[in-house]
Amino acid sequence: MSEYNGPLPVLEGHSADFYGYCKQGELRFQRCGGCDAWRHVPREMCAECGSWDWAWALSSGQGEIFTFTVVGRALHPAFREAAPYAVTVVEMDEGVRVLSRVADVKPEDLEIGMRVRVGFEAVTEAIHLPVFYRLPG
Ligand SMILES: [Zn+2]
Repeated sequence: MSEYNGPLPVLEGHSADFYGYCKQGELRFQRCGGCDAWRHVPREMCAECGSWDWAWALSSGQGEIFTFTVVGRALHPAFREAAPYAVTVVEMDEGVRVLSRVADVKPEDLEIGMRVRVGFEAVTEAIHLPVFYRLPG
């Protein structure tokens, strides 16, 4: 396990469920029982149809870089050594967007539209953060 002293998600409610799946190596998002729309970040009601019916659905784990920004001066002391680094928004094939990073690509080599797949980085015993890796092609 790497030495991680960055901020951690609070494991309560839907967040605890989301990261519980991550620990099992599964990326899951809420999917509406009324209209099948995917959503992230977790919330109670569907913004598309207003339904309160939903379930955790397994993602393909693949998507593409929607956008990114390169941080030259870390805004949190824990990330000082990592700078410059790219904060990346990945649009999953299901349509939802995830704020993360691409672990195996240098910031200067990132491109919008680059295909990526999810992996999980164990930063604590309980928390395995979803990160992304470049897909060939
Ligand atoms: Zn819906």
